[in-house]
Amino acid sequence: MNIAEDARWIGQPLDLGSDLKAEVANTRHLVRLLSDHANANRASAAAAYACDLLDKTLAAKVTGPVACAKGCHHCCHTYVSATIPEILRLAAVIRENNLPIAGITDAAGRAAAIGQDGRFLNRVSCPLLSDGACTAYGGRPLACRTMLSRSLQACLDYFPLTGAGALMYAGGARETRGRVEIIFLAALSLAQLPRQHIELTQGLAIALTEDDVEERWLAGENLFAGVAADTGEGEGDALKTWVPILVNAVRATL
Ligand code: SF4
Repeated sequence: MNIAEDARWIGQPLDLGSDLKAEVANTRHLVRLLSDHANANRASAAAAYACDLLDKTLAAKVTGPVACAKGCHHCCHTYVSATIPEILRLAAVIRENNLPIAGITDAAGRAAAIGQDGRFLNRVSCPLLSDGACTAYGGRPLACRTMLSRSLQACLDYFPLTGAGALMYAGGARETRGRVEIIFLAALSLAQLPRQHIELTQGLAIALTEDDVEERWLAGENLFAGVAADTGEGEGDALKTWVPILVNAVRATL
């Protein structure tokens, strides 16, 4: 692998241009992290890197006003999905901060009974929400990190009941999320790890059952088999097109 060649792009925001060198370098870096068998928490480590890459790129690329602020949590009561490494990383942050987990088990049970399609009308608040703020903010998954709205009114129209209208993302937020998602999913594919997104609360409830869940999942135990995959998965043309392109570009260099 081209470690020296990749160094200039590692830990830096993506430029979002048409040149994919940064994407290739970051995918290779993530494959290295995911292939480090000396690290029993390598899935969490890779998810943490992807989240950091997203945060740095959002900070560099989002333009225009952002309406989001602490205490505003309209997007925390609906369906959220994440990859299993993101969920394992969030579980680690919950453990490190001794956050209560009883509410997570309860929310997971209610979310399982409702299913994805019913989640606009039947709200299950994220169990990590407390006093209007995310108690595991530093460990929240990619989807939550990208919820940058430029219109509070659009969120008020979209989230509470029907999902009417459309979210109004701050400029550059969705494109940034797309680039990082493509990189992370390509790396998971190359590391031969599952890359599906699953419902967050049910995944968390499983991730928090035992301390060795990450190690066992990395060893091939299908611990999350009972949680349905996001039905929106695979619909995005960009993901369908670009993940295989990036996989092929990087595979030839590993
Ligand atoms: S993880 Fe945090 S940001 Fe994401 S839905 Fe839950 S409370 Fe909201």
